[in-house]
Amino acid sequence: KNKYGIDIWSDNNFFIEDGLVKVDYDSNPSLISIVKNVRKQGFKGPLLLRFPHITKKQIKTLFNTFNASIKEYDYKGTFNAVFPLKVNQLPNFIHPLISAGKKYNYGLEAGSKAELIIAMTYNNMGSPITINGFKDKEMIHLCFIAKSMGHHITVIIEGLNELEMIVEVLKETKLEAPNVGLRVRLHSGGSGAWAKSGGIDSKFGLTSTEILEAFELMQDNNLEDLLTMIHFHIGSAMNSIKPLKKALRESGHIYAELKNLGAKNLSSINIGGGLSVEYSAYERTRFYSLREFASDVVFTLKEIARQKGVEEPNIFTESGRFISAASTVLITPVLELFSAEYEISHLKLKEKNPPLIAELNELFKDMTKKTAYEFMHDSIDHLESLLTLFDLGYIDLQDRSNAEILTHQIIKKAISLLQIDDYEELKRFDKNIQEKYLLNFSLFQSLPDYWGINQEFPIMPITHLDEKPTRSASLWDITCDSDGEIPFDIKKPLYLHDVNLNKEDYFLGFFNVGAYQDTLGMKHNLFSHPTEVNVVFKDGEVALEHILESQKIIDILEDIDYDTEEIQTILRRSVSIETYEILQKYLSDNSYLKTIWSYYDDE
Ligand code: PLP
Repeated sequence: KNKYGIDIWSDNNFFIEDGLVKVDYDSNPSLISIVKNVRKQGFKGPLLLRFPHITKKQIKTLFNTFNASIKEYDYKGTFNAVFPLKVNQLPNFIHPLISAGKKYNYGLEAGSKAELIIAMTYNNMGSPITINGFKDKEMIHLCFIAKSMGHHITVIIEGLNELEMIVEVLKETKLEAPNVGLRVRLHSGGSGAWAKSGGIDSKFGLTSTEILEAFELMQDNNLEDLLTMIHFHIGSAMNSIKPLKKALRESGHIYAELKNLGAKNLSSINIGGGLSVEYSAYERTRFYSLREFASDVVFTLKEIARQKGVEEPNIFTESGRFISAASTVLITPVLELFSAEYEISHLKLKEKNPPLIAELNELFKDMTKKTAYEFMHDSIDHLESLLTLFDLGYIDLQDRSNAEILTHQIIKKAISLLQIDDYEELKRFDKNIQEKYLLNFSLFQSLPDYWGINQEFPIMPITHLDEKPTRSASLWDITCDSDGEIPFDIKKPLYLHDVNLNKEDYFLGFFNVGAYQDTLGMKHNLFSHPTEVNVVFKDGEVALEHILESQKIIDILEDIDYDTEEIQTILRRSVSIETYEILQKYLSDNSYLKTIWSYYDDE
């Protein structure tokens, strides 16, 4: 049986039992039971299942692990963390995160005005807020306002002009200024797929000359006491810890130098994000544990503080992927198996068939376990010849259809006769024998990192796990774009079950999609965000909270600035009243497929 690497990537959040993927928490519901429950309420498209208990577990693990290291090394600084909103700003994710973080004083990081407004409104008062990214005077003013509300906010400066704006806003508004942090441009680079955030030519941060200038500028304006934090971020999804150690040493020395220059309130080093998550279902790609990570941070900073004779800095992290990725599972219904069109019932052999077709028919009938490979390869050769004959006008469309059906049936029969025990054998098969699974979702909307940077995500069926999957699978989404495909990859093969969708449903789960995918996703073909739901546990029962249906068609059109009044007026003018009523129903439906003719009756 195939476990789809669940032991590698799932971090004990999910497990397989009785052929089903189950949630390793509380009453251990199966994913299919949750999915059925949501679908019963009429939501037929792709689904995002969010599990706030997983977010909570990650926050707890982060704090406990760092605090254990701090204890072990008798470190004098404190551990603090913020969630970077860019990683997932959606309310269904953020609200549970904020309540789970309360007891840890877990805060938020914002990189734009809109994110700052979320932080100002919902952050637990007293928990830290850090501000990154490029800023204008208005954004700086917003930070002052957040401070005046009582927030513990630190504005991290990316350039000297931002410091100048702080001085201006201070003079003009007379509001109390927020704390200031300096983002340093490290000469040490990052690691992993997103390494470009670090290094001397990175987009962000102050050079050593600029750091000295910034401190002077603060001193000239009597603001040096505002400086509390040094910040760096060497890139997301670090697969090795080595670059982090270098960055820690570099920034630790900058911290110590500034302290010795008289930055008396400088008390923290913010190490950014970058803790990775295991996305691979085939082999481990992350080469450190959180414990090792925490110990390295604490130990390195302790050493530098000792060496330079300064107090041990408080530690801040902004890890986002680590906190959020595992909390969300994308469920996609399989709409169609490509080869379903080649059912044997569609075969219409003639009285007299072209010789190659007659031969295909013989291969199909006579195939035994012993001859399976040979016959299958023969049939694929024959099909190729028959397609050429069709192009040259020697066989007709019915012949061609018969040839295609017979070949597909031969392949299916071969697979079942061989009862493939060893996937190495499946790999020997011709690539023509892959099955194509059409999934009700948009790759561009729901897995943008697969489309953009080929990021792997764990994929597995959520049922049938007590049966051997026999089809090498390519996945297609429902956008009209041939990039909306996850092709079969012989190095990372995905095998799925040969199901008859007329008789049963089949769903694939995509795991670890809670970081970045939600708002990076795009509305290609105007497929919007899938229906989502928070799955929570109450007294041993599963409760579905905050079901948020995928956007209505009319709202999608409004979002891209169509005049929806005009659309409705034109449509109303153009059809009968009865038809217009139906049209209105469609307009208030979402754009995913739902097998339209069961529209009026529920499952
Ligand atoms: N902090 C900063 C400044 C970032 O730019 C990022 C992401 O790129 C993060 C934190 C979050 O990184 P991750 O999600 O890898 O933890």
